[in-house]
Amino acid sequence: MATERTLSIIKPDGVQKNLIGEVYRRFEATGLEVVAARMMRLRQDQAEQFYAVHKERPFYADLVRYMTSGPVVVQVLEGEGAINKNRELMGATDPKKAAAGTIRADFADSIEENVVHGSDGPDTAAQEIAFFFSGAEICPRTR
Ligand code: GDP
Repeated sequence: MATERTLSIIKPDGVQKNLIGEVYRRFEATGLEVVAARMMRLRQDQAEQFYAVHKERPFYADLVRYMTSGPVVVQVLEGEGAINKNRELMGATDPKKAAAGTIRADFADSIEENVVHGSDGPDTAAQEIAFFFSGAEICPRTR
């Protein structure tokens, strides 16, 4: 399997629940390396642009409101098959359908407030990483 990078976000509910360390622990326990990280509060225009693919969905306005409701922690994860590994750690979008032991099954309150985001494929991963981080902000491990 190839080494990949993926974009992860601990969403406002995850930060509110003090789950930053717990989510990072799961990344590290599964061998994913954090190679860039930032805490920030998304502006309305940033959330709108990030989720533009969902613009026509009925939940879009709520989603943007939720994503701007508090700080988030954004990170780039690197590792073998990182995109799918992170999706497996996260679990299904709807926590009621998420497999036991996944982040969303363990901590999410609803299909909207579901604690984490993770890129769903190589193209979106590249786009989403570039949305948040310049090349110089990514710090591959040297030891
Ligand atoms: P993800 O890749 O698993 O995060 O899922 P999607 O890309 O389909 O949706 C993006 C985000 O929109 C989800 O993580 C949820 O926060 C939110 N979302 C998705 N589906 C729904 C829905 O049916 N209702 C509401 N209120 N929010 C949703």
